[in-house]
Amino acid sequence: MHQFPFLSCFLSISWLRGIRQGALASCLGLIAIAAQAQSTSQAHKQLEKLVDEHAANWKQVSKQIWDYAELGYHENKSSALLQAQLKDAGFTVESGVADEPTAFIASYGQGKPVIAILGEFDALPGLSQKPEPERDPVVAGAPGHGCGHNLLGSGAALAAVAVKEYMAEHHVAGTLRYYGTPAEEGGSGKVYMVRDGLFKDVDVVLHWHPADRNGVNNGGALAVISAKFTFHGIAAHAAMAPDRGRSALDAVMLMGNGIEFMREHVPSNTRVHYIISKGGVAPNIVPDLAQLDLMARHPSNAALSEIWERILNISKGAALMTGTTVEVEDIGSDANIIGNDALAPVAQRNLEEVGGYMMDAEQKRFAEALQKTMGIDTVPSLDQTQEIEPLRPYDPNAPSASTDVGDVSWAVPTIGFGAATFVPGVAAHTWQAAASAGMSIGQDGMVVASKALALTAVDLLTTPALVQAAKADFDKKLTGKKYQTAIPPGQKPLIDYRGK
Ligand SMILES: [Zn+2]
Ligand SMILES: [Zn+2]
Repeated sequence: MHQFPFLSCFLSISWLRGIRQGALASCLGLIAIAAQAQSTSQAHKQLEKLVDEHAANWKQVSKQIWDYAELGYHENKSSALLQAQLKDAGFTVESGVADEPTAFIASYGQGKPVIAILGEFDALPGLSQKPEPERDPVVAGAPGHGCGHNLLGSGAALAAVAVKEYMAEHHVAGTLRYYGTPAEEGGSGKVYMVRDGLFKDVDVVLHWHPADRNGVNNGGALAVISAKFTFHGIAAHAAMAPDRGRSALDAVMLMGNGIEFMREHVPSNTRVHYIISKGGVAPNIVPDLAQLDLMARHPSNAALSEIWERILNISKGAALMTGTTVEVEDIGSDANIIGNDALAPVAQRNLEEVGGYMMDAEQKRFAEALQKTMGIDTVPSLDQTQEIEPLRPYDPNAPSASTDVGDVSWAVPTIGFGAATFVPGVAAHTWQAAASAGMSIGQDGMVVASKALALTAVDLLTTPALVQAAKADFDKKLTGKKYQTAIPPGQKPLIDYRGK
């Protein structure tokens, strides 16, 4: 790519005897750019090497966190392990930030720019699974890393360690931070960190997420609001005195019906899902307490808040119809992700430079066996781990999930990667994902992400114009828009939001 200007430059020198000053200056400029490109490529090579040198240790860390499989806000051992490792590597660690016992910030260097990498490490309930291609929990019903956050937290730290070593050797100015962000799965850990101003001085945030393919995530994700609707009625003998009772379960069921009737009259890319988390204690007692645990999502924060108002009204209507009362407890709320068109091409170029990875024969055997358990007719090729998806504009109608990275992206220019850590065809939040995340396929995919993050972080630390361009795009995208989390202002992180 950089050979072209070079070539035309030398041609014009040899062709034209009387070179004008301007032409000479522009030729020298091109030579300087080419020299810069050369040094960038050397930097990238060294960074990839540094990642490779530290990879074995961080693969081990990822396996340890996979073994711990701790739920959101209770990632005590996982967080402590990451903190200890980063301290050993020369980072200064501040822990327990934003009233979250397992949140921390590890820093290296000083001054501007401030480049941050996000790490997550929470597991999901019920997804305990051995690293085997058939359903076999380590402990039945226990949590498991079905979203691959063991890899996410470790891979982000591996990138940070490589970048730190590069900065030290080459006296690179600026600050590198690793944000240990708890409870991504339902606890909105990052939202409280944003609210506490912990990202205020950050110039660019980088993140990644395990996936079944390699690609750049430029924006997207669905805004989500989740809450528990607890109905209170009056208990009574269900046969002898039902007239004296008021059923909280009836209210829950009417609320569910209300949601189902609403479903037709919301934009088609709305998602509403719920479970009955409490439904009474015995059929012969009119339930005086029942609970609906609900999440609603939409690509737009503003559209979601309108839908949310309607859901609140449905809950009030259900209470009115049944003579019960309803109490709404906000559990978490994540914004959508604001993309960045200045950072995306850089991230894409770096991911393409790193490339994917090729499975060995043993990994292929595992992957093929795992694909057979998924019950889908056409499984993607295993070569998917070697390929890089082209950079696509965000499609609000494409299937998507939600993440508290969204709230960070409203505060700081943000760009993310996806790396093929799950066997191709495997979706997150499945036992197949937990199996992939606990063995070498997940770990090899993790290293791809670490390299792409490291290259991009150093590009940002050494190219002020890139940080400026990222900021300009961020300002443009946020013009006329306002960020407001749906989490009530005084609410503290809900450390025990599960099982309440
Ligand atoms: Zn998840
Ligand atoms: Zn996740």
